[in-house]
Amino acid sequence: MNNSGLTIVYTGNGKGKTTAALGIVLRAIGYDKKICMIQFIKGSWHYGEMNSSKKLEPNFEMISVGKGFVGIIDDKSPLEEHKKIAKEAIKISSNKIQSGKYDIVILDEVNYAINLNLITLEEVLNLIKSKPSSLDLILTGNYAKKEIIDLADLVTEMKEIKHPFQEGKKAKKGIDF
Ligand code: ATP
Ligand code: MG
Repeated sequence: MNNSGLTIVYTGNGKGKTTAALGIVLRAIGYDKKICMIQFIKGSWHYGEMNSSKKLEPNFEMISVGKGFVGIIDDKSPLEEHKKIAKEAIKISSNKIQSGKYDIVILDEVNYAINLNLITLEEVLNLIKSKPSSLDLILTGNYAKKEIIDLADLVTEMKEIKHPFQEGKKAKKGIDF
């Protein structure tokens, strides 16, 4: 048995990055592990996993950082709003990673947040470098930076072969969101 914590990256243009991370959540809860997932991008969509997390309490905690900001800060500047949310997500992630309360921490869509310049690569590299040695850290989102890939132990690139979206089919409840 291997008890050393891994840094895992799910990237690429194909579907399955966030759901791969959620697959690990399901598996790990089977051993009563504690998991925290932090969502870096504020989307207007509601995802099924936001409901599932409540059913999986107290093992699974999900934090959609943007949600708490709706209506609180000035919405005239979407980029500034997204930046504020992403910065807050970094702070929360750091606290959760250092808390010792979790076996696994998931930084969902964090790679997009870097590419959109909402947060810096250094902020994320620092999170990875300072994580407790036993913690498994999962990062998702396409366009993972080389420096993150270099630090990671496990990197999988989802590659799109086919997606119903290409035929104009809309996203499906329970599959896409
Ligand atoms: P999922 O959450 O389904 O695992 P993902 O994390 O790999 O997807 P994201 O880049 O986070 O993908 O995109 C979020 C949304 O876009 C989800 O609703 C997802 O199902 C959908 N999606 C993912 N990949 C594709 C694709 N290649 N074409 C169209 N839609 C996609
Ligand atoms: Mg995703």
